[in-house]
Amino acid sequence: MFKNLGKDKTVMMSYRNSIVLGTQYYRQPTPTAKEWSEDLKKIQDMGMQLIQLRPQWRWHERIEGNYIWDDIDQLLELADKNGLDVMFKPMLETAPGFVFKKYNGYRIGLKGEKIWPIAHGAFYPGGWLPCFDNPDVIEGACKFVAEAVRRYKDCKTIKIWHAWNEPRSRPIGECCCEHSLANYQNWLKDKFENIDALNDFMGKCWASFDDVDVPRDTSDFAEMQLWRRWAATRVAWRVEQVTKTIRTLDSRPIVAHVGMPSVMQDVLCDTSDDYLTRKTVDFYGSSFATRRAPKPIEESLPFLINDWIRSISGDGYYWINELYPSIGSWYREEFEYDVVKWVWASIACGAKGVIFWQYKKERVGLETNDAGIVETDGRDNPTSIALKKAFSVINKNSELFALAKAPKTNIAVIYDFESDLINRIEETNHMRDANLSVNYSTMVNTYKTALQCVYQMFWKAGIQVDVISSHELEKINDYKFIYLPMFVIVNEKQSRILCQYVKGGGKLFAEGGVAQREQNTMLQTIRPGSGLVELFGAQEIYRIFEEGEDRKVIMHDKTELISKKMNAVFELKGGKATAHYDNGQIAMVENTYGSGKAIMTGFSPGLANLLSPDEQWVSILKNWVKDCCLANYINADNDSIFTRVLDADKGKIFFLFNKTDKEQSWITPNNGIDLMLSVKVEKGQSVAIAPNGVGVVHFPKMS
Ligand SMILES: [Zn+2]
Repeated sequence: MFKNLGKDKTVMMSYRNSIVLGTQYYRQPTPTAKEWSEDLKKIQDMGMQLIQLRPQWRWHERIEGNYIWDDIDQLLELADKNGLDVMFKPMLETAPGFVFKKYNGYRIGLKGEKIWPIAHGAFYPGGWLPCFDNPDVIEGACKFVAEAVRRYKDCKTIKIWHAWNEPRSRPIGECCCEHSLANYQNWLKDKFENIDALNDFMGKCWASFDDVDVPRDTSDFAEMQLWRRWAATRVAWRVEQVTKTIRTLDSRPIVAHVGMPSVMQDVLCDTSDDYLTRKTVDFYGSSFATRRAPKPIEESLPFLINDWIRSISGDGYYWINELYPSIGSWYREEFEYDVVKWVWASIACGAKGVIFWQYKKERVGLETNDAGIVETDGRDNPTSIALKKAFSVINKNSELFALAKAPKTNIAVIYDFESDLINRIEETNHMRDANLSVNYSTMVNTYKTALQCVYQMFWKAGIQVDVISSHELEKINDYKFIYLPMFVIVNEKQSRILCQYVKGGGKLFAEGGVAQREQNTMLQTIRPGSGLVELFGAQEIYRIFEEGEDRKVIMHDKTELISKKMNAVFELKGGKATAHYDNGQIAMVENTYGSGKAIMTGFSPGLANLLSPDEQWVSILKNWVKDCCLANYINADNDSIFTRVLDADKGKIFFLFNKTDKEQSWITPNNGIDLMLSVKVEKGQSVAIAPNGVGVVHFPKMS
């Protein structure tokens, strides 16, 4: 529990007993001073307890060492007057002019070009952003943070420090300046000690570590993979520097939150590794980029983000830090019921804080009219009215939700940073493509799409799964069924863990391309590599990844399905074939190994279902896991209602999401309380769930 928490545990402990509802309120220059008093009163009236302030470095330290805090002083006073808590988030990415002019804090891109700092809808004062590998820049940034913490450490209104907003490394060239390059070379030295060891590992011929340059292109996968792995460590390092600075001065809890969590981000051009980033803060959170997600993944994405962040955030305590209640640039507004659904999805998965971005719609730059609960003049709209209702139910049952926990599940899906990265690099349009882009209209890179899509299939099947990081692969021993979407790079240690897991009775399911590459990204000569042929009882003999190269897959119960784009063929090495392609080649193999089973497919069920939707994929998935599922609230689920359950003391809380635009009724399995209406319900009674709405029912005694 809060391993890193300092002496002052009281703040967090009181937060631990309630759900924190709040909103980002202020980043210069909006909202303006004349709006503050009335806005803060309305935020409190709406049922929120906390506002976030985002003071920007460039705003407060225009002249080096000369700090001005007038606006923040005034806002803290007003927050106190209105009974609101404050989360204080220094924004270091908007650096003052002297950082560039005096300290040459510029970033350098892949082609050696200066990446000029800009102003932006989200970074309006400008100076976005300097290179934090430059020692003068990080020193100046930490000085600014220290100045802020010293100034406000006696301010009781501030309850939480926020170390870094959406830490990430973008663009891909961040950063090729002399400081960053030296740091990269030192990182390699620490890892490999001498240049021969690095050359042996990579199959290269550098004369010395100083000879290692930034990879300027993706055409050699190995160097780009190494470089971006380094970049992810720098993101985590930045967060650590700020966290340490705050911690030496104050003991209040520290949070950081990712912009695009690992399960969603473009891991090559917008890099961070949540497992590394969250290590030094007290708890972790995520922004919530569910808007305009590709169909059909959009419905399950809110749950995927939550399940991932819960898993990655230490002991499972986490917040959703930026939930977007509206959409800018004059697009069609989000439906109010979708926004309310995202709030409930977060509570249902175990989030203990939900913070909105932001209270008022924005007025500047590329965030014009974006993401406010209320309109620019403070007017209510259908979303703010619907949210107020939801907040009242959450606040009324705050302690119940705060103490409830996501139930144990027997099934986990693994996320692997290195596999994601190598796949993303492989799918780049290499030398011809300066933007290093992939086609985002239907999917991100195939690895991530396969991951998101198999999660979506579990979601459709009404089966709760955990999503865990391969950094903690040992955790698989807590589960009965492990699903590996395209685990392209499996190292020796991971191979041992997987083999022992199956030997001990686990069921391991790996899709197309498992252990295809060595750790240095070279293709394995025998695939799957790392000794996994014995585990899966088969070897890949042919693989294709091409548009239009569809295969018909015939399961042994005669079910026929289409697998598009990615398919592999196997030769048996002790296992037995459990599906064929229509040309008779083997498409799927099952092998008994020790007391468990290992299953390998030539296709990706999730990808196949995305590219050629077929409900049979979901039934087949249910069949694969049926002997591993816990008994079972999944029966509460049907085509019209999706259910999530939290364990609460001796009972359970059911969250019922109506997937349709018609009212649905749900028969209660026990005596309970309909929390939406605050009325008792008896076993067998029917509860009405509004079109596209959410029902929440508490059963105080239910095992
Ligand atoms: Zn740099």
